[in-house]
Amino acid sequence: MLNGMSVDVEDWFQVGAFERVIDKADWDALAPRVERNTDAVLALFEDAGVKATFFTLGWVAHRYPALVRRIVDAGHEIASHGWDHARVFTMDAAAFRADLAKARSAIEQAGGAAVTGYRAPSFSIDPRTPWAHAVLAEAGYRYSSSVAPVRHDHYGWREAPRYAFRPLPDSALIEVPVTVAEFAGRRLATGGGFFRMLPAAITDYAVRQVNAEAQPAMFYFHPWEIDPGQPRVANAPLKSRIRHYARLRAMAGKLRGLMARHDWGRVDAAIGAAA
Ligand SMILES: [Zn+2]
Repeated sequence: MLNGMSVDVEDWFQVGAFERVIDKADWDALAPRVERNTDAVLALFEDAGVKATFFTLGWVAHRYPALVRRIVDAGHEIASHGWDHARVFTMDAAAFRADLAKARSAIEQAGGAAVTGYRAPSFSIDPRTPWAHAVLAEAGYRYSSSVAPVRHDHYGWREAPRYAFRPLPDSALIEVPVTVAEFAGRRLATGGGFFRMLPAAITDYAVRQVNAEAQPAMFYFHPWEIDPGQPRVANAPLKSRIRHYARLRAMAGKLRGLMARHDWGRVDAAIGAAA
């Protein structure tokens, strides 16, 4: 069973957890690390023989077009993570349409490859955005991976399906939620910081559980999660700091193990939506 491996390409200062303490107007003045970190991710995948999908901010593609080209040239799928990490539920349909178009234009120009996949910043497609999938379908996207079917303090849509589904009756658009483990009637998140902080056995359990249902798992992480040397945001809330900086040093090794224990590929290939 081929599972979806994905990376949300954004820099250490662009994460949702810091948005209240770092102004977007200051982004250009902060020390960028996304290029070197994403190159390190590319090397990890190269060593493991894994292809993946890179959901990239338009903001990043606009500033680092050569990075996007390296992702494409290595055989990975390039996809959209929106323009500047504005969460979908903070927009209306028209603003979402504009955000998608601006991001796609920058990413396609940089990579020279069509963008047909989308991941909402902080999994921000939920019951507050009933128009979002229709906007994606109308813009020609083949799939979205924008739903976390779990309850979390920053995001989540607990009642959403766990596996890929068609959110619109008259469109082939597929929504492929990130994988959660179901345990004693509860759902546990598995990607990103959860994978970093919790035992990898929980993610292994989730992948096996999902594959037993003949469904591909969907895993994600961020380039900054393998970067112990990133600047520390001292004025962020303690809980955010604990989550963001925990176990950064162990992450690359954990990822190597996860890649060795299961089969991983690009999201479009894993869900049968490759062009
Ligand atoms: Zn993100």
